[in-house]
Amino acid sequence: MSSGNESIKRYLNYIGGSWKEPTGGEYYPNLNPADETDVIGHFPLSTVDDAVEAVSQAHRAFPAWSRLLPQQRAQYISRFAELLEKDVQRIAEGLCREEGKTMKEAMGEPGRGYTECNYFIGEAQRLDGITMPSDRANVSSVAVRVPLGVIAAISPWNFPFLTPIRKIIPALATGNTVVFKPAYDTPLCGVMLMELFDQAGFPPGVVNMVIGRGSTMGDAICGDPRVKGITFTGSTTVGRRINRIAAANFTKVQLEMGGKNPCIVAQYQDLNRAADAITAAAFAVTGQRCTSISRVIVMRNQAEELETLITERMKSYVLGKGSDPQVTMGPVINRAAGESIMQYIRSAEEEGAKIRAGGRQLTGGKFDKGFYIEPTLITEVTPKMKVAIEEIFGPVLVVIKVDSFEEAVSVANDSEYGLAASLFSDNLAWIHEFQANVESGMVHINHGTVTDACMPFGGVKSSGLGPFSKGSTNKDFYTNYKVNYVQYR
Ligand code: NAP
Repeated sequence: MSSGNESIKRYLNYIGGSWKEPTGGEYYPNLNPADETDVIGHFPLSTVDDAVEAVSQAHRAFPAWSRLLPQQRAQYISRFAELLEKDVQRIAEGLCREEGKTMKEAMGEPGRGYTECNYFIGEAQRLDGITMPSDRANVSSVAVRVPLGVIAAISPWNFPFLTPIRKIIPALATGNTVVFKPAYDTPLCGVMLMELFDQAGFPPGVVNMVIGRGSTMGDAICGDPRVKGITFTGSTTVGRRINRIAAANFTKVQLEMGGKNPCIVAQYQDLNRAADAITAAAFAVTGQRCTSISRVIVMRNQAEELETLITERMKSYVLGKGSDPQVTMGPVINRAAGESIMQYIRSAEEEGAKIRAGGRQLTGGKFDKGFYIEPTLITEVTPKMKVAIEEIFGPVLVVIKVDSFEEAVSVANDSEYGLAASLFSDNLAWIHEFQANVESGMVHINHGTVTDACMPFGGVKSSGLGPFSKGSTNKDFYTNYKVNYVQYR
C-alpha cells in the first residue's frame, strides 16, 4: 500500500544488526489517529520469511550474548538507558503522534522505561539461585539460573514504548536474545527503540524487530521451536491462540491480557477523593489501559452522590489532538476500535441502562480527522449486561449498584478477568476481606490503579498466565534453573 506521497519516510525492519527491507517488498502507511491526513511513514508488511530470519539471527547471537558477564550486559543496557534519557522529548512527540495520547501521557512512557531499565540492570546482577545442605556427605548442591534462549516479545499499541522495554530489557539482561513484533498501529515506537539499541552498540542479532501484521507472522514466530519463551501483552483472544501454539513445543509463556477491572465503593467517607481517583483511572489514555477501572460497584446509599461527582469531573476533559497542550484526552486508536466502542454504548441503551454522561462520537471540523468519543458514564447497569461483562477498551465507565458488601465482591468476581481490582472503603474488616477474596492479580485500596516500577505486574483467570512482569518475578520467566551436584570427595 502507498499513500502516493514519495516524500513520506520509509522505515525498515531491524534484523541481525542491520536495517532490512521486508522480503515481499510491501509497506503500509501508518496514520496519526488524531489526524488521519498525517501519514507518519511507510512501514514493512513483513512476511513469514522475515520472521524466520529474525529468529535465526537471534538464535545465532545467543551463545556469545549469554556467556557475557551480567556486568557486561548491564553496561550495554546502561548505554541504552542513557541514550533513552537524553531523548525523552523526541520519543514522546513520536509516541503522541502515533498512538494519539496526550503529550503529558506520552512523556510518562520513556520516563518510566528509564526507571524500569535501571531496576533490571541491578536485578540481573543479583540473580539469585538456591543452595541447600546436601543430604549426602561431601556433596555440594547449587541451583543456578540460566537464560532460556530466543525470546519472542509481542506488544500491543496502547503503551507502545514502555511495554516493549518491559519485555526486551529483562530478556537481554538475563542473557536471552530477542525477536520483537510491535503492534501494527505503533511501529514508529518500535523503530525508535531499535535506533537506541543500535546506537548503544548491542552486538548484531541480540535484538531484532519485524514489523507487520501479527496475523501474518505471529504463528511462525510463536511456533518456531528455536523460540524458548514468548512474552505477550494484548487481548485474551490472541493470548489464548499463542498459548495453544506454544504448548506444542513446551515453550514458556508470559501472557498479559485483557481486564474488566472492578472498583467497589462501600462505606467510604471521602467520596470526592474516590471520584477523583476513579475518574482518572477510568479515562487516562482515553480509557485504553488494561488496568483502567471499567466497572464501579457501589453501595446503593452512596451511588447517586458518587455518580454526580464523577460526572462533574468528566466535564473537565478537553478532547483533541494530544500535541495540543490544552487537550486532556486524545482520540481512540483507530476507526475500527471507535466503532466497536460506540456499539457497546448503544448496546447498553438497548439493554435498559442509562447514558448518564457523554456517549457520543464527536464530529465536525478537527474531530472528523480521527475517532473521538466523549468520556462516557453508563448507570443503571446490571451485572449480566454486555457492558458489564466485556472489555470495552475505551473511555467508558459503567456503574452497578449493590445492596451489601458481600454482593459487591461477588459481582466484582463474576468476570472471566482478574487483572486489577480496587476498593474505596473506611471499613477495615472489609478491606481485609476484599484483599483476601477478590480474584485479581493486583489489588488497590483507596486509590486508583497506579502501580510501582519495582513491583510484580500481572493478572489471574483470563487476564494472565506465567510469571508476573516487572519487579523480581520477571526473572522467573526469563530464566530456568539448572541444578548442579558435585561429589567433591
Ligand atoms: P491484540 O490484538 O491482542 O494484539 C497484541 C499484539 O499481538 C499485537 O502486536 C498484534 O499484532 C499481535 N498479534 C495479533 N495476532 C497475533 C498472532 N496470531 N500471533 C502473535 N501475535 C499476534 O491486542 P491490542 O488490540 O494490540 O491491545 C489491546 C489489548 O491488550 C486489550 O485487551 C488490553 O487489555 C490488552 N493489554 C493488556 C495488558 C496487560 O498487562 N494485561 C497491557 C496492555 C494491554 P497486530 O497489531 O499486527 O495485530
